[in-house]
Parts: sequence; structure tokens; C-alpha cells
Amino acid sequence: MGEGRVERMQSRLDKLRGLMSQQELDACLIMQPENRRYISGFTGSAGALVITSDAAILVTDFRYITQAQDELTEGFVVESYDKEIVDAIATLARNHRLKNLAVEADYVTLRFYDKLKTACGGVDILPREGLVESLRAVKDPYEIEKISEAARLGDEAFSHILGMIKPGIPEMDIALEIEWTMRKKGALRAAFDVIVASGSRGALPHAKPSHRPLEPGDLVVMDFGAVVDGYCGDMTRTVCVGKASAKAREIYQVVSRAQAAGLAAVRAGRTGRDVDCEAREIIREAGYGDYFGHGLGHGVGLAVHESPRLSQSGTDPLPCGAVVTVEPGIYIPGWGGVRIEDLVVVRETGCQILTRSTKELLELD
Ligand code: ZN
Ligand code: ZN
Repeated sequence: MGEGRVERMQSRLDKLRGLMSQQELDACLIMQPENRRYISGFTGSAGALVITSDAAILVTDFRYITQAQDELTEGFVVESYDKEIVDAIATLARNHRLKNLAVEADYVTLRFYDKLKTACGGVDILPREGLVESLRAVKDPYEIEKISEAARLGDEAFSHILGMIKPGIPEMDIALEIEWTMRKKGALRAAFDVIVASGSRGALPHAKPSHRPLEPGDLVVMDFGAVVDGYCGDMTRTVCVGKASAKAREIYQVVSRAQAAGLAAVRAGRTGRDVDCEAREIIREAGYGDYFGHGLGHGVGLAVHESPRLSQSGTDPLPCGAVVTVEPGIYIPGWGGVRIEDLVVVRETGCQILTRSTKELLELD
């Protein structure tokens, strides 16, 4: 787990307790898997954390007791339950004399909420959004190191795949080879299903790889990321099979300029919306505004899509230490698409780019 883990985990818990006391919460219940892992170190797939001002408890079942004892950060205690997790939580609420308990509004089901309310009787169950997510938005040096490592594996997979791109190779084979390469080099898994979209299929921003063989002149959009110790990478490059047409070249240059403008705009204190606008304006001026239908980027960490967002709805200032993508694209139905995506760390005076692969338009055959 490396040096400094105890301090790192303690600092997360301290910050969460700070937010809880600001919001006058006696306790919060954390069940969303990435949130649970972030606060406690526990990577199992079931269990609930109950965090009060002076206690940190993981309630889980017998399948996870040993794993929890191995993984949980110092100061946490494990409690097992047999039948209903809500009953175990209710007992804790009584023992700790809680008046209220915050739950993750973006995660718990209505059914769970009702059961918890009934089991906990006099305790106010308060739905809250983004408590832990707001902490996760700012990465510590350990997290940045893991994400950089994931980015490096992505770069290696990209440089490897260039040798395979030629007419006749199906998209699926390229996607498999990208995933295989990342895993072979040490990724735990791919952060999401690898996207390979060639020719007119490139107009679908989230295309699933098909059996379509590459054809001369195709633009090929490849979007992928590795997972390292739970932390995700995310990058996109678009290359050409053989010679690029004048139109392909023009659109590539527009996206490339928009991406550079987005990167230049990233710095702590600016809003995600501002940064999005800078890149979007380049695409609009070039006449392709209607063909860039998604936000400029998103936070990346334990989840591949997390806070903060670089989009028209991103009205909060970007925090220093956030890790975000900058990924403008142009998608023309029936023709194809171009997207270029880098992973960057938000710093006080700009951004630090983690993705190192070239962004020149490569013409491969
Ligand atoms: Zn991506
Ligand atoms: Zn992305």
C-alpha cells in the first residue's frame, strides 16, 4: 500500500468529518463502491460504512470479513451482520445516539431508503448528494501517480497498436489488442469497453467495436483506458488508414486546435463551463458547432467519469489537483468522426498533461 497510507486515509476521513459538521450531520452512510473504497480502503463489493464524528465502522457480511480486516485503514472497525443490513445500521444508530444519518442520494434505491427509515425509527434519514464525490474530485499525489501510470499504459498500448492498423483488420481485433496490451503490461482491467470506430461509424461517439474491416482512407477513433490500483486512465486518438482526404485533414485540424485551446484554458479557479466554451468556440467558428454534441471533458479517478465536469453545466470553479479529460470531437453522420482526448492534472497556473502520445494526424498503411 506504500508509505503514507495511514496519513492519506486519515486526511480523507478528517475532510469528510469537516463536511459533516458544516452540514450538521451526526453520521453518514457510505455504500457507493468507489466512495466506500476512497474513505476506508475496502475494495469488496458489498458493505456499508457508518461514519460518525468519532467512529468509523464497516458493516459487511461474512464473505468479506477477512478481506475487510486486511484492507481497512487504521481506526476502522468491522461489524458483521446476518440477515438485514438495515437492522445492523439501526443498532449502530441507536448505540451512537444518532439524531440524523445522511445517505447517498445518487446511489441508494427508494426501497433501501424506505427500509432504512423504518428500521431506524426516530433517526432522520437525510439524502445528500456528492459528499464524498466532492472530496474525490481533488487528487492527492498518490492518486496522481496511479492515474499517470494508467495513462502511461494507454500510451504504450497506442504505440503498439499503430503497427496493426491497415486495411482489412476488423475494429474488434484492434479493440482486443489494445485491451490485451494494457493488461499484459500491468493493467488490472480496461477502465471501460475499448471504443474503436472506423469510417462512418466514427460518427458514433460511443461506438462498440464491430467486425467492420478497416478501409483505405478511414479515420479510426480509438478511446480506451487502463485501470491501475483502482485508478482509471482515459485517452482517445484518431488516426487515418493510408492517405487522409482533404476533408478528413481539415476536420482533424479543427479538433486539434479546439483541443489545444481547451488545454490552454484549464487552470484552477476557472469553471468547467469556461474551459468548455474556449474549445467549443473554435469548432463553432469553423462551422462544425452542431457536430460537437458532448461536453469537453470529465473528471477521472476511481471512476472513469466523476467530478468535475468540463461542460456547459460545469459552473463550479475547477479545484487544483483535479484530474480531467479534454476531449473535443466532431461527428458527422454518414461520414465519420474525429476525437482527441488527453488526461490532465489541473494546477494553479495551467495544466499538466499526462497523455504523451502524439497528436499529429498519423497516416498508417
Ligand atoms: Zn475516453
Ligand atoms: Zn473521456
